[in-house]
Amino acid sequence: MTQKLAVFNMKGGVAKSTTAYNLAVGLVKFKKQRVLVIDIDPQGNASAALGIPIWQLEFQLKDVLQHKVPLAQVLVTTASGVDVIPSNILLAEEEIPISGRPGRELLLKKAIAPILDKYNFVLIDCPPNVGVFAINALMASDGVIIPVDMSYLGLLGVQGIEHALTLVRDQLDHPIAIAGVLATRYDRRNNLSKEVLDALTEHFGSKMFKTVIPETVKIREAPSHGQSIFEYDPNGVGASSYRELVNEVYKWQ
Ligand code: ADP
Repeated sequence: MTQKLAVFNMKGGVAKSTTAYNLAVGLVKFKKQRVLVIDIDPQGNASAALGIPIWQLEFQLKDVLQHKVPLAQVLVTTASGVDVIPSNILLAEEEIPISGRPGRELLLKKAIAPILDKYNFVLIDCPPNVGVFAINALMASDGVIIPVDMSYLGLLGVQGIEHALTLVRDQLDHPIAIAGVLATRYDRRNNLSKEVLDALTEHFGSKMFKTVIPETVKIREAPSHGQSIFEYDPNGVGASSYRELVNEVYKWQ
């Protein structure tokens, strides 16, 4: 069965895109999985980090949502073996038109249904809000990965995330699960990181991934080389922590 996971948090800068693309590459590299990344964030960061030139896209996710082109024409297979449905800022122009369409919450789910069989994992990188694109991502997913950065505002945002998931479950009748909450950007020199991690663990208990992603320069630099952390710094702590996450997500299926 295909695992469909949205990487979701309404806060920006928490490592949603960083997690989506490194996890995707890791699942291909270490677990030989067939992985599709859907970039439903108009910033296009996951697409760019996977080496896609996002300013030269002939077709992109918005064309699929508008039924302009078949999905096969939009799919890009990257050097790492991950397939991507990319986006750039032009997706943002579709937000208002799509918001007025009947069945707007299910556009993505319906669009990808014909190709799901080809993949073991579909990872959907969400925008930092709970607008129509994020709702489409959640409705197309079985579970969510929630990266939370080790900051006070990161912790405060947790209530909003749970509220959004409740809305999807109760009002849209979609039983989405929490695949795991991921502590990101952990800085062990800083007391706040420990305090936020302790508070998150107390709140989410077994829903926390055991993996903790540290704040490292290499993780930040890797996208500018169009590489995952596994190629850019294979022996560093960033690669080993994202590899642990790959193992945990692989087991979740
Ligand atoms: P989001 O998708 O949640 O907005 P990003 O994945 O784009 O967040 O990350 C925001 C910024 O933080 C990017 O510049 C990224 O390279 C950097 N970043 C993410 N995770 C880490 C980390 N563990 N260590 C250092 N920098 C990180």
